[in-house]
Amino acid sequence: MIYLDNASTTKVSDKVVEVMVPYYSEVYANCSSLHEFGQKAKEKLEDCRQRVARVFNAKSREIYFTSGGTESDNQAILSAAQIGIRQEKKHIITTKFEHHAVLNVLNKLKQQGFTITYLDVNSNGIIKIEDLEKAITPQTVLVSIMFANNEIGTIQPIKEIGRVCKEHKVLFHTDAVQAVGNEKIDVDELGIDMLSLSAHKFHGPKGVGVLYARSNVPLTQFIVGGSQENNRRAGTENLPGIVGMVAALEAAYKDLDTKNQRLKKMRDKLFDELSKIPHSAINGDREHRLCSNFSMCFEGIEGESLLLLLSDKGICASSGSACTSGSLAPSHVLLSIGRPHEVAHGSLRLTLSRYTTEDEINKVIEAVPQVVAYLRSISPVWDELEKGVRKHVI
Ligand SMILES: *Cc1c(COP(=O)(O)O)cnc(C)c1O
Repeated sequence: MIYLDNASTTKVSDKVVEVMVPYYSEVYANCSSLHEFGQKAKEKLEDCRQRVARVFNAKSREIYFTSGGTESDNQAILSAAQIGIRQEKKHIITTKFEHHAVLNVLNKLKQQGFTITYLDVNSNGIIKIEDLEKAITPQTVLVSIMFANNEIGTIQPIKEIGRVCKEHKVLFHTDAVQAVGNEKIDVDELGIDMLSLSAHKFHGPKGVGVLYARSNVPLTQFIVGGSQENNRRAGTENLPGIVGMVAALEAAYKDLDTKNQRLKKMRDKLFDELSKIPHSAINGDREHRLCSNFSMCFEGIEGESLLLLLSDKGICASSGSACTSGSLAPSHVLLSIGRPHEVAHGSLRLTLSRYTTEDEINKVIEAVPQVVAYLRSISPVWDELEKGVRKHVI
C-alpha cells in the first residue's frame, strides 16, 4: 500500500509506540494523585510540558495539553470570544479557507452576535496582508489564520500577520496543525499569541494535542471538572499520549531540514510529471507550501472516481480534506482560490511523509495519468469539452 494521505493522519512511529508503552503498564498512576507513584507521573507530565515549550520557544506554563487540534482551536477561539465579550469587542477576522474546526466555531459565535470577517485568499492560496490591515477595527478582538492549509499546503505570511496584530493590539491565533513538524516555529519571533497542534499529524498518537497560549491570554475553562491543566482544561491527563506526542515532536524537528529537502524533491517530481497531463493545474503557490503537499485539479473528471481507482491500485490519496470527503459539495478551499465548481470536483491531494519512498512516487507518476485518461475517456463532460460544446477552464 502506498500511503499518501498524511495530511489526514500519519503512521505512529515505532519509536513513539515504544516510549508510550511504559506509561500504560508501569507508570500508570494519575498525575493528580498525591502518593509517590502519582508524583512520578506528574513529574513526567511537567517534563513533557517543558519539552514542548522548548520546541516553540515558549514557557512551560503557556502549554496546555488537549485532545487534539479541534479542541485546541475551539478553546483558543472561545477564550478569545470571552475576552471580546468582556471588552465589548465582538469582531473576529479569519480566512475563507480555514479548517472546519475553526469555521464552525466562528459560525456559532456569529449566532451569538459576533461579526466575522472572512478574508479572501489569492489564487495562489495566500492572503494579502493589506486585506488584513484594512479589516481590523477597534472592535476586533481576534485574528485566527491557519499556518499552513490542510488541502493545498500553502503557508501564510505568519510573521507579518503577527506584526500587524501586535501593532493593533489584537490577539493572533494560528491553527498550526499542518505546520507543526514540517516548519520551524518560534512563537516570539512570529508574534503568535495562541497556537493549535495535533500529535497524529506528525507520527504521534491520535487524541492528543496542545494549545499554546501566551501567559497574558486568559483561557476560559470550557471543559469543566477537576483542576487539571492549571484549571483550564479538566480531565485526567492522557500521559501515555502526551509522552508519545513529545517523542514525535522532537523526532520531527531533529532532522527537519534533511527530511524537508527529501520530501520537496519527491513532491516537485510529482508536480513536474503530473503537470504534463493536459488541462491540469496546480492548486496554490508551488513554492510557498509545505514540502509534503501536492495538490492539483484535472478538468473533466470526478475526484471521487479518481480516488477509488487509485485505491484499487493500492494508492491512498485524497481529493480534499478527510473531514469533508463523503459530502459531494466541492471543497471550500478550492472555491476560495477561485477554482470553478466543476474543476474543484476534479482535485487530487497527495501528502507525503518521512516514510514515503521514491519508488512509491514513481508508481504514482505512472498510475495517475492512466487513471485520468481512463476517466476522461468515459466522461460525457470531457467529450463535450473536446468537441468544443463546452469551453475548457484550465
Ligand atoms: C487535522 C486538522 C485539525 C483537526 O485536528 P484533530 O486533532 O484531528 O482534531 C485542525 N486543523 C487542521 C488544519 C488540521 O489539518
